[in-house]
Amino acid sequence: MPRKPPPTNPAPRTSRASRHVHDDPPAQTGKLREIADCPKCRASYRNGRWTWERAPVGSYEHVCPACERIEGDYPAGILTVEGAFAASHRDDVIGLVHNVEERERTEHPLKRVMSIEEEGAALVVKTTDAKLAQALGKALAKAYAGKLEHPATSSDKENLVRVHWTRD
Ligand SMILES: [Zn+2]
Repeated sequence: MPRKPPPTNPAPRTSRASRHVHDDPPAQTGKLREIADCPKCRASYRNGRWTWERAPVGSYEHVCPACERIEGDYPAGILTVEGAFAASHRDDVIGLVHNVEERERTEHPLKRVMSIEEEGAALVVKTTDAKLAQALGKALAKAYAGKLEHPATSSDKENLVRVHWTRD
């Protein structure tokens, strides 16, 4: 495919977007009009899903669910890492979290790590996607054994999946 020249008029994005003021219900991606272009991360919504393909000229701007969660600090998954091993191998644990996230995010724009915070001896990893939190927990258990706990899907009442991984 020939390389396109850089856009010559990047200016009127906001004014154009303001003509499309829809109060879309959050995260109901199934009903989103296509093609949407996330102004924050430049993911685009087409064929019923978010991809990393750049949106074509003429797309409308719509913040993707992942950026919306990041902006509002509204995680879909929280992985808590605890125990003596985790404390003494913090860099390894964080490295593994980053590796898994990168692999998942490359395929799925909505799967991202929002933050990794230390809370006392624990590490708290917030994710934009519940399955990503579960995948991170599984990856830790696979790499380092330890104890993995995550709720049954039916306990997912608050729309937030909490996963715990512990190794002493
Ligand atoms: Zn985005």
